[in-house]
Amino acid sequence: MKKQFDTQDSWYDDAHEYWNNVTPTVNGMLGGYESISKIDVQGSQRFIEELVNGRKGAKGNVLSAPYIEKERACDCGAGIGRVTKHFLLNNFKTVDLVEQTAKFLEQAQEEYLLNEKEAGRIGEFICQGLQDFTPEEESYDLIWSQWVLGHLTDDDLVAFFERCKRGLKPRGLIGVKENIAVSGYIVDEEDSSVTRSEDILKGIFKKAGLRIIKEQTQMGFPSGLFTVKMFALVPESSEE
Ligand code: SAH
Repeated sequence: MKKQFDTQDSWYDDAHEYWNNVTPTVNGMLGGYESISKIDVQGSQRFIEELVNGRKGAKGNVLSAPYIEKERACDCGAGIGRVTKHFLLNNFKTVDLVEQTAKFLEQAQEEYLLNEKEAGRIGEFICQGLQDFTPEEESYDLIWSQWVLGHLTDDDLVAFFERCKRGLKPRGLIGVKENIAVSGYIVDEEDSSVTRSEDILKGIFKKAGLRIIKEQTQMGFPSGLFTVKMFALVPESSEE
């Protein structure tokens, strides 16, 4: 029987149990695809570059100003902190991590991000599901969620984005990097997650009152994997 992911009571518990049995390594975070981490990080950097650093012409003239400040980011569904270590900390002074599985955050604090923590680069390690997480108001330049939003039901995802909007600084951004299905929903019974089509995901952004200011497909992943897309989102009410 297909899992009815929007109604099944055990949806979140099943995912929690699945991740609790995964080893706290980069390979564990990427379901055995450790080799794609570098390409993934490069793709994210290319995507965010003009938004954090602006764009300059050949003569150093400013083509576009940075969209956000480089102060504080939040890594949602952070795992052991792979994205924080290799991507977010290259762009932001401090990063907070939100992650549901306690043992991943323990690994991050004790080893994987120990140097970064001691250098004062990590704000908080928050052990919570994103369905319950409420960012502090007006705190973040960027709230980044990667390979985790498929664990949230549609309603919880809309509500999560609405809370994230309030957690952004006036010119903050929400970043999303997720697998994309060709159409509809593809449910993964093993880890209790769903892969959504681009249309469905965009419908959720709209319902949450978010506007896309940039979108891009990740290039260079091995064939056989889902298409992966990145989105930069701002509250609909923010200026063009
Ligand atoms: N974003 C990281 C980790 C991806 S693995 C990276 O790209 O390396 C998915 C992570 O999401 C796991 O660490 C898992 O524990 C976490 N997760 C699963 N369901 C979650 C939920 N409801 N809320 C927060 N984190 C969740």
